Amino acid sequence: MNSSFLYHAWGLYSLECTREEYKGNTIILHVQSKKPQKTCPKCGKCNLVKNGYRTRDFLGLPIGGKKIIIRMKVQRYKCKCDGCDYDQQENIPFATGSCSYTHRFAKHVVDLLRSMTLKDAAARLDISWDMVKEIHSRYLESHYSPPSLDGVECIGIDEFAVKKGHIYKTIVVDLLSGRILYVGEGKGVEALADFWKKVRRKNISIKYVATDLSAAFISSVLDNCPNAIHVFDHFHVVKLMNDKLDDIRRMQYNMEKDINKRKVLKGTRYLLLGNGADIYDSKYKTRLENALAMNEPLSKAYYLKEQLREIWAQGCKEDAEKVLADWVDQARESKIPQLQKMVMTVLAYRRGILSWYDCHISTAKVEGINNKIKVMKRNAYGFRDERYFKLRLYALHDCRITRNVG
Ligand SMILES: [Zn+2]
Repeated sequence: MNSSFLYHAWGLYSLECTREEYKGNTIILHVQSKKPQKTCPKCGKCNLVKNGYRTRDFLGLPIGGKKIIIRMKVQRYKCKCDGCDYDQQENIPFATGSCSYTHRFAKHVVDLLRSMTLKDAAARLDISWDMVKEIHSRYLESHYSPPSLDGVECIGIDEFAVKKGHIYKTIVVDLLSGRILYVGEGKGVEALADFWKKVRRKNISIKYVATDLSAAFISSVLDNCPNAIHVFDHFHVVKLMNDKLDDIRRMQYNMEKDINKRKVLKGTRYLLLGNGADIYDSKYKTRLENALAMNEPLSKAYYLKEQLREIWAQGCKEDAEKVLADWVDQARESKIPQLQKMVMTVLAYRRGILSWYDCHISTAKVEGINNKIKVMKRNAYGFRDERYFKLRLYALHDCRITRNVG
């Protein structure tokens, strides 16, 4: 086989092929350098002599459906100059360090993984699953790790469950690019400690932060970037109110003796908890109105739930403050215990709720990323390897990188 073919097919240059071997589904190409090395890279003199060799195997790009092994006679050279201790293997330009595959092979694996699972790629190439993962890890490591914090101003923080509610991880996302900037263990204050350390070390000034209502996140942000505008995600506030409303509905249902009225209450759960403005169907509208007309506490709570949303629908912060204060007054007057609790919550989180008018951010993007992670975990067997899992998270924003590879 001539040297041009070696170069064009496998990216091997200054090599010659001494022999081809055909073994089942594998072609072994025996190669060696065309010209011996003469100049010593250390002292620059032409005093190198051969000092033994070893044979190394590298996987090359498959061809004709066959696996290609490039078996290279790797020469060792020693310098004969006085005072020069050069004694090394010749340089191998088509592979990295001790890797047993060529650069082109690695690139091919990464390309396959854009549309294939690890398992399928391993089967296609007739190599081990671990090797595919190693190649992918190296690639992700060099392209996505560690994630740069340069220019990051606006972040969202959230947690996700790794194992059905037992083990948690906390992620910090750049809300502009959607990149995962950091993955921490657990969901407490300590989960974020290393992130803030990095922020201080790199002298990054975070201006806006969005989180849910987690006490740990709130205190962590307050301690570490007290000057940032911290927005509490409005869907989480509305969700708390929905929980209260559902609680009230359940109580009223249990207290109701009239079997027909109970039926009406039971069937309205989704109508009550949904967004009132989204109910277009007159049939559902009437059903909801009937349920509300026959139960005063429920009707009050429903009205206040709808009213709460108005806090985020104002033209300016001052108006929102008024709507919030008005809401608090009305909820207090209702005398419904669940709503009294909600009043405490709204007042406690007031600043973070109104911060929305300083910057319209939410954790929606982070939740979207969390959903992607869920799909990725479902399709993957490989995430027992913590390091690889993290690398995959760092590359998650880049749709060129992966389908959800398992
Ligand atoms: Zn030398």
